[in-house]
Amino acid sequence: MNENKNAIGRFAPSPSGIMHLGNIASALLAWLDARSRGGKIVLRIEDLDPDRCSNELAVKIAEGFKSLGLVWDSGWENKPSDKYAQSNRTELYNDIFDILQKRDAVYPCYCTRNQRLAASAPHQADKLSDFGCKCRYLSKLERRELEKAGRKPAWKIKAPDKIVSFTDGHYGKFSENLSDTGDFIIKRSDGVFAYQLAVSFDDMDMGVNRVVRGRDLISSTARQIWLIEELGGKAPQYCHAPLLTALDKRKLSKRDGDLNIDELTKRFSTEEIFGLLSSYLNISDGKPTSAEGLIEGFDWSKVPKEDIVIK
Ligand code: GLU
Repeated sequence: MNENKNAIGRFAPSPSGIMHLGNIASALLAWLDARSRGGKIVLRIEDLDPDRCSNELAVKIAEGFKSLGLVWDSGWENKPSDKYAQSNRTELYNDIFDILQKRDAVYPCYCTRNQRLAASAPHQADKLSDFGCKCRYLSKLERRELEKAGRKPAWKIKAPDKIVSFTDGHYGKFSENLSDTGDFIIKRSDGVFAYQLAVSFDDMDMGVNRVVRGRDLISSTARQIWLIEELGGKAPQYCHAPLLTALDKRKLSKRDGDLNIDELTKRFSTEEIFGLLSSYLNISDGKPTSAEGLIEGFDWSKVPKEDIVIK
């Protein structure tokens, strides 16, 4: 049996802004990675953070994928309580949290709001989540005092002293001791589950075996592999992609409204957008094309490893 045919990739957008060229590039690569293997794509909406995400933006992103011909095979349909939206998966995350709590793998953390919020932004979590925190070593009495004073804890994983090694499909071998990255938040003090727990569990639960995403998330990968294996699952193959950056090397961002899909589709046809992207990604000669037209001959070895500056 050809293992490739069973490839299940995913689109996992956070509906926190309007999709930009960088998001389209990641989605295109995820789609080509699955399709070129005869595999399938799941659409999951990563709307964990109620303050940043909206259903309106989720609809807009899904419509954007569709209008570009980046069709998915299963997943989010915008039904009430749709189980492919992370905001509707709290019960499932709670079960996982209970398992981890019973194993004494988590502890309450009473640090400041900034540190807690970091957990909800996957791209910033590394910098702040474990900054100077000593909560792991609080005594029962100290914890009780903090609770009495009305402090609501976030919950962190006790990062084990364990080396996780993996081979990224594009960037090669990585090895990381989880204790070097440090303890990380899996549940915020307001009860919202954090990125690392949700994404690890969801990839496992949804049968995803190929994860394609921007290379800024390579640093989360070891933790996700570890969590999935802790929960008895098999980690997917990860394939990270170079980021698209503005001239000043700043990563394109939804919040800054960079090259967003509304602007792009006003100026270019879908075929022109993919022509442009395929030349940036070095996967074709840059002639206007549909996404379908890029499937044949898709090969990760053509994709640059360095970030791509959009001029
Ligand atoms: N939801 C994240 C984003 O939109 C992607 C997370 C992931 O691929 O693991 O950037």
